[in-house]
Amino acid sequence: MARDPKYDILFEPVKIGPVTAPNRFFQVPHCNVLGHGRPRAEAANRRVKAEGGWGVVCTQEVEIHPSTDATPFIEGRIWDDRDIPQHRLMTDAVHEHGALAGIELAYNASHAPNLYSRIAPMAPSAIAVRDTFPIQARAMNKRDIADVRRWHVEAAQRSRQAGYDIIYVYAGHNLSLLQHFFKPQYNQRSDEYGGSLENRVRLAKEVLTDVKEAVGDECAIAFRFATDELMGPDGLQAESEGRDIVGMLAEIPDLWDVNISDWANDSATARFEPNEGYQEPYTAFVKTLTSKPVVGVGRFTSADAMVSQIRRGVLDLIGAARPSIADPFLPRKIDEGRIEDIRECIGCNICVAQDMMVAPIRCTQNPTQGEEWKQNWHPEKIDAAVSDDAVLVVGAGPAGLECSMQLANRGYAVTLAEAGEVLGGRIVRESELPGMASYARVRDYRENQIRQNPNVEIYLGNHLSANDIIELQIPHVLIATGAHWRRDGTGRQHAFPIEGLENVSVLTPDDVLAGAEIGGRVLIYDDDHYFMGSSIAERCRDQGNDVCLVTPESKLSIWTEYTLEQEKIQSRLLALGVEIVVSHQLLKVVGNKATIANIYSNNHQQQVDFETLIVVTSRQSDDVLYQALLEQEHRFKTLRAIGDCNAPGTIAAAVYDGHSAARYLQSGKDIYAPLFAREMPEIESALKKQ
Ligand code: ADP
Ligand code: SF4
Repeated sequence: MARDPKYDILFEPVKIGPVTAPNRFFQVPHCNVLGHGRPRAEAANRRVKAEGGWGVVCTQEVEIHPSTDATPFIEGRIWDDRDIPQHRLMTDAVHEHGALAGIELAYNASHAPNLYSRIAPMAPSAIAVRDTFPIQARAMNKRDIADVRRWHVEAAQRSRQAGYDIIYVYAGHNLSLLQHFFKPQYNQRSDEYGGSLENRVRLAKEVLTDVKEAVGDECAIAFRFATDELMGPDGLQAESEGRDIVGMLAEIPDLWDVNISDWANDSATARFEPNEGYQEPYTAFVKTLTSKPVVGVGRFTSADAMVSQIRRGVLDLIGAARPSIADPFLPRKIDEGRIEDIRECIGCNICVAQDMMVAPIRCTQNPTQGEEWKQNWHPEKIDAAVSDDAVLVVGAGPAGLECSMQLANRGYAVTLAEAGEVLGGRIVRESELPGMASYARVRDYRENQIRQNPNVEIYLGNHLSANDIIELQIPHVLIATGAHWRRDGTGRQHAFPIEGLENVSVLTPDDVLAGAEIGGRVLIYDDDHYFMGSSIAERCRDQGNDVCLVTPESKLSIWTEYTLEQEKIQSRLLALGVEIVVSHQLLKVVGNKATIANIYSNNHQQQVDFETLIVVTSRQSDDVLYQALLEQEHRFKTLRAIGDCNAPGTIAAAVYDGHSAARYLQSGKDIYAPLFAREMPEIESALKKQ
């Protein structure tokens, strides 16, 4: 299909200083925990985006010197010339597909604890290092300032040598030294680098000018700047100092990359920022103050929204991190008139969570993300079927849908049987929780693909038994029948059922999502720690119930610290009037009274009255069918449980499992064999050099 002419504007080249982007699709810097630890995987990850049509593809943060060492995080490194060959892998891969390669030079100061280099961190003024590290940063003196300027120049020269076209100077996410110089909370200096805004901006201006002088003839210089911190007068605001800073530096960089700070605001989840373009109120002014091109982000997945940004003069280039992760081929699909094939980001931040856990990137929507080199997976290509065998997939949740879709893409004839009347499994119910409507995209994308593919026959309202399946005589059977929430309180805190639950009426999330009646004061016991407990609390409160939420953890929904949602969740629930009791476990229930105890001391107990009790603890696989079929395994060439039926987990894990099962069906590979390539330290060659 041909591109719709209304999208032509997205494919216009854009001049950025001495270089020209082939189109307006710009993958802004984002981390992936491949970086200096896994350089081949890093290059392959970025290559696929260039192949998918992104006109500019950037690295993640790249440490410019050992004194800004982000360990334990694994970002990029360009400490010295020895790092250049790694970066060459990335720039060559990106250039191969006609895109420009960008590098984000980062000096993170008091956000880099230097756990590897063991150098004392530096900051504008003496300050404690982030999180709870027992480390402090020392105040920079004039020599340090000169060093930081020089290190930026040297890193820029190395970047040019490594083949980068765009070199970033970084002042965003409340992570970077240059941004900290802007902020009085970090900068309490009394010299020419502190005090007035002009003084606080001085170092950024010097670094930008130095870098431009050093490499600006060949490379474009980008400035990544957070215009607002969403802290009101306690932080930098777009309407005052944010605007003034843009005014002061307006024409110095070749490109403005603007966003909001900190990372939790920039990469807001759909639960808190449901609309694309949510940064526009804070960044739209930038174009009025500079003649240089501007790139910005806002979880853009709709071509119409992108065109609107350009036509209304908000942005010149459409920036994307998450939309490019969920669909590296988004630009190509718009170009080829295949809008319906775009796999839209759902705003869940599972990708971010991986980074926060210092694990390689993964994505709910795109199971190939991070697997490009490791398993040689491509988001748009899959090996053809190796036989004419038919395949049966039982259950149409995320695992069953992904598996069926990919098997059909391979050319297998797939029968997809689903007990319910609609496709989607857990997605159908969970996408109705507050702020989770976009999760329906996991189903919608796959349903749309499957319905267009004649290789899949869908049978709804079809609850299959083991005998039904045996009678079908289909050689390959994949069981994706999901999981259900436990009613007995067993979870992370409780290895055994909680006393008294068997004698009272207890609701689980499945009951709540199925529309169970919820009356009066609600007690929620959350020993799951992801979104479910707090989402149900929010919904009950919205419906007018009094809600008390008890959790054995020290914070509500504590795992969502990784998705950057925890503070937002706890604040929202407090604002809604939910009573939150942390560090307490549910000991026993008698009638309408629960006894909860402090997890550090059983002597600290209290009674909580309730009319409705909801336990959100753990899930149990719905694997009765699978277990029954295992008794008859000899009848099948393939019999495998996938997704939550195999082991309950995230939606991302279910999609991945479905994808993996489809990709490796009849491949001769066993899932427990070392399927994937690993980047090993080259001990032999290193020994020879010594
Ligand atoms: P996952 O996250 O692993 O994809 P879900 O719980 O989302 O799992 O989906 C499982 C799906 O399987 C549900 O839609 C459910 O109706 C369906 N299902 C469960 N048992 C059967 C069965 N015996 N026959 C057909 N469909 C089933
Ligand atoms: Fe989007 Fe979620 Fe994928 Fe991240 S993990 S890119 S937020 S769908």
